Amino acid sequence: MLVLASFVLSLPLTVCIDPGHPSEVGEGTAGNNVSEIHIAWAVAKKLETILEQKHVRVVLTKHSENQFVKNMERSKIANDCNANLFVRLHCDSSNGSGFATYYPDRQGTVRGFTGPSPELLEKLGPIAKHFHASLHDGLKGFLKDNGLMSDIKTAVGSKQGALTGSIYSHVPVVLVEMCVLTNPKDESLVSSDAGQQRLAEALARATVSAISPDK
Ligand SMILES: [Zn+2]
Repeated sequence: MLVLASFVLSLPLTVCIDPGHPSEVGEGTAGNNVSEIHIAWAVAKKLETILEQKHVRVVLTKHSENQFVKNMERSKIANDCNANLFVRLHCDSSNGSGFATYYPDRQGTVRGFTGPSPELLEKLGPIAKHFHASLHDGLKGFLKDNGLMSDIKTAVGSKQGALTGSIYSHVPVVLVEMCVLTNPKDESLVSSDAGQQRLAEALARATVSAISPDK
């Protein structure tokens, strides 16, 4: 029994990392020198390395930076690996600066399909709050915190009730707009290797603390 108990306790966490774009929504945004696709991919690969060092099983939704994957497919990959958390990485374009975390706090409907389930929504609320609080700590003094927000605060979410990737998700899902790439200061922060490492480390800590059973 002792052996079995320790085996159960040591079951690895699984995280699905989704570097945003290209998808049916498009290529995403760009700064003066770098694209959202590139930043999301670079941070995702660093995050993968850090999580694997923490013995977390990692599944990416793409095999290469410019691979086209539809948002429904991205959710299917997270569902199929039964991820403890589906972490979606994006960069915003606006007049502001800084990062924000989005999560579905209600069901949405896309092409006649409604989701996520009420059970998942109930489970996700505390996970998203914990995730964002840890991300806030990890990025303090680096990027401005624009808060934890409902998917409905996004352009797509305001029409559907939730983001497409959230609607099709059967596992806890958060989407991080890591910076405002159209802001030159943000762009310069996330363009350097050190800046991407800082983001990845904060995301790793937020991810693990949000889904660890002893949190
Ligand atoms: Zn995006």
